[in-house]
This record gives sequence, structure tokens and C-alpha cells, in this order.
Amino acid sequence: MSERELAYVQKHAADLMNAQEKAKCEAYCDAYKQYLDASKIEREAVKEAIRLAEKKGFRPFSRGLKVSAGDKIYRNIHGKAVIFAVVGKKSLAEGANIAAAHVDAPRLDLKQLPLYEDSEIAMLKTHYYGGVRKYQWVTVPLELHGTIALKDGTSIDVKIGSDPGDPLFCITDLLPHLAADQNKKTLGEAFTGENLNILAGSWPEEGSEKERVKASVLRLIHEKYGITEADLISAELEAVPAANARDIGFDRSLIGAYGHDDRVCAFAELQAILEVENPEKTAVCILADKEEIGSVGVTGMKSYAFECFLEDMCDCQGVKLRHCLERSYCISADVTAAFDPNYPEAFEKRNNAKINYGIGVCKFTGAHGKSGANDAPAEVVAKLRRMFDDAGVIWQMCELGKVDQGGGGTVAAYMSVRNLVTIDAGVPVLSMHSPFEVVAKLDCYMTYKGIKALYASK
Ligand code: MN
Ligand code: MN
Repeated sequence: MSERELAYVQKHAADLMNAQEKAKCEAYCDAYKQYLDASKIEREAVKEAIRLAEKKGFRPFSRGLKVSAGDKIYRNIHGKAVIFAVVGKKSLAEGANIAAAHVDAPRLDLKQLPLYEDSEIAMLKTHYYGGVRKYQWVTVPLELHGTIALKDGTSIDVKIGSDPGDPLFCITDLLPHLAADQNKKTLGEAFTGENLNILAGSWPEEGSEKERVKASVLRLIHEKYGITEADLISAELEAVPAANARDIGFDRSLIGAYGHDDRVCAFAELQAILEVENPEKTAVCILADKEEIGSVGVTGMKSYAFECFLEDMCDCQGVKLRHCLERSYCISADVTAAFDPNYPEAFEKRNNAKINYGIGVCKFTGAHGKSGANDAPAEVVAKLRRMFDDAGVIWQMCELGKVDQGGGGTVAAYMSVRNLVTIDAGVPVLSMHSPFEVVAKLDCYMTYKGIKALYASK
């Protein structure tokens, strides 16, 4: 064997792709950007995914419904998560090909009693959701999205800021002229959770005597939504960055947007399953909620909602769920950290994901001594190598940053606990969890190709 054959050399995607493939990548990314703009929060990401899937013939799957090979079904989980499946020719006793991504993203949630007035300015209290670096969220234009559930069982969707004519919101910060004390604090101390209060108005209600500005805001909310302050108690309102997905760089090779983590993998799965026709094994696409806070809650990946769905399908075929799970294969499709030349000290160059080197495969995640990781068995890694190489997927092996620098988790550990072999793979991201994350188009496209390869696997 030659020296070149003996060594493993990673190649930049530019050296591996032809013009036809590049054009496909561009078209795929255009569709992804549209999906992102329609999906600023998890509920919208689920709604948009279902809308796209129904156009392709997917139908809601209710218990007892008969399913046969080729059927395209889905289950909406409380409007905040969704599972799609295309029924395979083989029995579920032979296992399914499963991909799991999440559609929640770090953000600022409004508290249940958010509105108050201070110094004749109306403000909204927030409680941050997921891992946010608080300093990144001040002086950033914000939109307000979510839902208000009413006592009568109905609910009202809220979406303020996505129309060009809409007002926006923001959180103020100190001017440099008066920041002497703040400048002495550490980055982690200078911005506190209780200080992330959103500007909500400043003009007083006519004829009102005290808290006149709050009164005016309540009046406007009532006029628009017909609700009172008490109704906000059962609302989920999320402040998210007010910017749509845009190409980045002179060469437009990157996409900047809020919420790539993990809608970039969610869309890859979605697009892949929308194209599945009569697979050998049943293909399953999970878009989960709550990953950013530990996959908790009824819509998170620890919830039995997943078993419920899969068991209902197994029941149709007289198959035991546990037999299906132990023969299935799962890709936990979640983003990883891309090497950032501005911060080389946080990364280990030889084992870090690089933008434009394809979908990043992580054998393990976790922190310190792999604590909290899934750590996929070597055989599971080998199967992924085979699947991706056979399908011409450009991929790279990686781990998240330097040992003991930090760490992170995905849904992988909660999939494998079900006796379901699982491996992490997803798009490398710059500025992860910030209001404006950046990914390379090529890596988005290769993640979609990777999931397609999984669904085609026999
Ligand atoms: Mn993620
Ligand atoms: Mn995340």
C-alpha cells in the first residue's frame, strides 16, 4: 500500500464536490432558510414541518389505525414535538431507522407574571431558556412568539415582529460612559438573569392615575388579543432574535441565523423523510422539544410519547416494542462546535469539527471523563462509516472542544437507554447558542444526505 492509502487524510468538501452537487446544495439551503424563517420557536417549527409533510401525503396516525408498507404517518405531540414515519416493507421486528433532532432553541421566555412598570416605562420580566451567554442578548432586536392558552380551552397564537410593519422589542444596556463599575465585573457576573428585562412601552394611558404606562400596554394587548393580564399566566411567550436567515460572506458559502441548533438537523431529517418512498425498514423522524434543558417534560426526548407512537405502530404488526428497539439504529442529529479561528485555545485541532468538512460525527459527547455521554460502541461507528461512505456523504469525526474545557449533551443518551444503538452526527456551528449562529451550506446539505443514507439502509 502507498503512503497515501495508509494515512487518513480529511479533505475539504470543495475538493470532493462537482458542480451538479453544489447546485443541489444551494437549492437545499434555500428551502432550509425558508423553513427557518417560518420557525422561530418550537411550535412554529412543528407546525411548518407538518404543513410540508401533509403536502407530501403524511397523515396523522391514531391508535388502532391500520398501517401498511409505504404509508406516511405522523403524530403531533402537544404542538411542540412531532414524529414522522414511513412504514417499511420489512416488519418492525427487524427494527427501524430512526433520526432524532430537536426544534427548541435557547431564548428568553416571558415569566408568567411578566408585565410591570418602572420609572414610567413598561417592562417584561424574562426567564432565560437553555444555555445563553446573557451579554449576547442585550441591545438585540427581539420578536415575541408563542401561544396564550385560555381557560375555555382555546388558544391564541402570538407572532409579533415577523411582519415588516410590526414593532420589535429589546433589552437595554449601559452606555460605555457610565459602565465603569460594570466593566470591573467578570463576563458571567456583569449580566444577570433578573436584569434581562424587555422594553415594552413608554406612553401612558389617558385618564389613568397610577402605573399609567402598564395600563396602556394592557389595553393594547386586550384590543389585539381580547385577553387580560391573568391570561398571561397560561401563556408561553418567547423573545427571539428579530433576524431572518441570511447568506454570510462574499462567496455566500455560509448561513447566519438564529436557531440553527438544532433546526438545521431537524430540517435535514424532515427533508430526508419527505423524500422516502417504500423503504426496506421503517423510517422514523423525530423533532423533539426541550433538548436545551435536558430533554425533560412531556414533549422532551425522555418522554414516553416516543414509545407510545412506536408501540402503536408495532401493535399494528403484532410486534413487541422492545424487539423493535433492540434491532433499530438511531442517529441523534444534533449540531456540534465548529473550530473558530478567533478562539483556537478552546479547541483541539486534530479532533475538532471544521466547517466545510461535512457532517460531524461524534462517538461521544459529555463533559470531563465523557460524563453524561452516550459513547456509541465501535461497531455502531463502523456501521455509520459504511453507510455514509457508500452514499457519498462527506463527513468528519469530531468531538466538542478541548478536554475539560466544557462539554455538552444531546438526546443520544436518552435514546440509547431504550436499548437502541445510537450515534451523534450533525452540523458544525460557529457561535452556537448565540442570537446569530453560523453554519456552512455544504455541511447542512451533507447532514441531509447522511440522514437519507440512514433511511435507505437495509
Ligand atoms: Mn442541539
Ligand atoms: Mn444546544
